[in-house]
Amino acid sequence: MVAHVSDVVTLRERVASGSPSETFGSWSLSWQAIAERLSGDTAAAFEAFVLSGAAMSKDVSNAVGEVVLDWARAHGVTHFAHWFQPLTGIPAEKHDAFLSLKVGAHGAVSALDRLPGSLLLQGEPDASSFPNGGLRATHTARGYTVWDPTTPLFLRKEGNAPTLCVPCAYVSYTGHALDHKTPLLRALAALSREATRFLNLVSGSDSVTAVTATLGTEQEYFLVDRAHFAKRPDLLMAGRTLLGRVPSRNQQLEDHYFGPIPARVLAYMSEVEAELCRLGVPVKTRHCEVAPSQYEIAPIFESVSVACDHNVLTMDVMRRVAERHGLVCLMHEKPFAGINGSGKHNNWSMATDTGENLLEPSGERTRFLAVLSAVLWGVHRHAAVLRATVASAGNDHRLGANEAPPPIISAYLGSAIASLVEAAERGEKPELASGAPLAITEKLTVQLDATDRNRTAPFAFTGNKFEYRAVGSSENCAWPMTVLNAAVADAFRTLGDRLEAKLAKGLAREAAVLELAREALTESHDVRFEGNGYAGEWLEEATRRGLPVLKDTPAALGALREGQRTAFLVSQGVFSEEEIAARTEILGERYLKAIDIEAQTLSEIATGLVLPAIEAQAARTGEALEAFRHGGAKVSRQEERLHKLAILAESLLSAAGDLDKQRDDLFAGHDPEPGLRHASTAVVPAIARLRGLCDEAENLVGEALWPLPTYRQMLFPVL
Ligand code: ADP
Ligand code: MG
Repeated sequence: MVAHVSDVVTLRERVASGSPSETFGSWSLSWQAIAERLSGDTAAAFEAFVLSGAAMSKDVSNAVGEVVLDWARAHGVTHFAHWFQPLTGIPAEKHDAFLSLKVGAHGAVSALDRLPGSLLLQGEPDASSFPNGGLRATHTARGYTVWDPTTPLFLRKEGNAPTLCVPCAYVSYTGHALDHKTPLLRALAALSREATRFLNLVSGSDSVTAVTATLGTEQEYFLVDRAHFAKRPDLLMAGRTLLGRVPSRNQQLEDHYFGPIPARVLAYMSEVEAELCRLGVPVKTRHCEVAPSQYEIAPIFESVSVACDHNVLTMDVMRRVAERHGLVCLMHEKPFAGINGSGKHNNWSMATDTGENLLEPSGERTRFLAVLSAVLWGVHRHAAVLRATVASAGNDHRLGANEAPPPIISAYLGSAIASLVEAAERGEKPELASGAPLAITEKLTVQLDATDRNRTAPFAFTGNKFEYRAVGSSENCAWPMTVLNAAVADAFRTLGDRLEAKLAKGLAREAAVLELAREALTESHDVRFEGNGYAGEWLEEATRRGLPVLKDTPAALGALREGQRTAFLVSQGVFSEEEIAARTEILGERYLKAIDIEAQTLSEIATGLVLPAIEAQAARTGEALEAFRHGGAKVSRQEERLHKLAILAESLLSAAGDLDKQRDDLFAGHDPEPGLRHASTAVVPAIARLRGLCDEAENLVGEALWPLPTYRQMLFPVL
């Protein structure tokens, strides 16, 4: 049912009012806040646990548990849950009550609330029931959730069951990563280690002690009315519409982007924001996106691991709050054909322990150049694996579809940085042009940025950070972030070794760094592309340059099966070979299952809903024809229409039958590769054929007889 404005107002009161800065973080508890509530030695022991992984004694962990319990109880919380991110696409949580029983004299039982440190630190869920790529089996099922104290604990205040969520990593009994967080934490540690060494080699000091990667996620999404959603089996089952005619007006007037936000949507957005703000997610930006009913939310950037957790939490809150507003939040990369899909731009940079942004062009020039060269070298070297991290059945519809970057990893720098880099490549002294003021009227002046924007580049430099634009909207950013940070860590390691060798040969430091940057830029030259990534010529040019052109998920996953491509992940300690093989299998399986669900759903809709609609239309047209003939009217066009309906019904049945047949072969055989190839070369085209016929039917069947909410009704709701 559609929520009424008055309901929405009451719902809004769930999250009491208050400015964002007043309510920020009131439902979250950071490790620093826990430490503040502990006494001297205990606080120091806890800090050592968080910062250097030192083991805590039982007394210390119990004291931490008590602090957490007191805080949670003060918020009326009765349960806690280890909150983790298995490879299912959504977070997992198993709730336990704080309830504990104490048996006293003569067996008298009393109840009390407890949170022993051991339960806070570690949980033990069954690992065989989550995707594990063969790493676990039902008879070897043990897995562990392990508290990651660097992301604040938070409260889930859903319904009458407020729950304390404990952000965790999740591994098997053998220590294999079964989640998104474990490899991400390993990659960030690798980046910090390699970047610290590299920067100190560049500066000839030991002033840098740690490097943190930073991430700000721009999350795009669609909102549809729950009543419409409920009548679309395709949205329910597959998360995207599998049929539907694009309405006459869609996005061609370019009037939705940054347009006025409808009141009902704004009520939804502000409730999402108020809740996220309390959860400690620094949400900042909201706006209408390019497609009708498409929107965006973006936070202020944070450290990568916290930002990844916060993005997962954001998606979760967005889905839940939508329910309260009679809406459904669609995160799929392409919910509607023919209009823009949704991405999640990952704005990424790195900062020193003193908070200096390493990609700030106005920073120390030699260091900036060295860091930039290393990033480009890493992205060029590991482009294929980076490409694989944004591969999914959903994103296949988006990448390269004139709205998102093509499935080729290239980096855009913008004219000012490009000239700096080109000068360095020629061995000249790199100078940076700065943006200038430009008078646009007699009184108004605009301060130009040093670089323009390029919305077609998958990896675009935007001022003082890179924007990895190819990431899909439904994706967990931890996977692309793991590989990006590991790729850059590998670049710092390789280039650091070379720099060390140059210095050992007696080269002056500044000269050695410039020579190194020149080498790195020359070697990675091909990854730089300043042109229009949407243009067909880029595909040819990229192929000529030898860049990996991996057009869909099966092709992209192939890169993960080539040991020499993934070796850097192993040498940086991010994944073992077994973990990579398992992950590749899981990603392949997810792709196959997504295609299988789409194929089955579409076939059912075609035969169960569209065909009866064609038949009903034919019957009605037939009756009308009889009546018209009776009256002596000319009916040749109508006979033609009836004929078309008959042909369409026949073709539809045949295409649905063909799709069913193709679907049968998806999971044949043990080797997943033929299945993946079959999916992309036979099943996906069969889905497209059947869809084409359904959309033709929508043209021929009257709206009163059409069994599904149309694109027009869903995208242009009367709010
Ligand atoms: P756009 O103009 O590209 O749409 P937005 O303002 O929507 O940009 O989002 C830009 C994102 O980049 C924000 O999340 C912002 O916090 C983030 N960002 C800014 N600086 C950095 C940085 N140094 N590292 C990572 N992310 C950053
Ligand atoms: Mg934006």
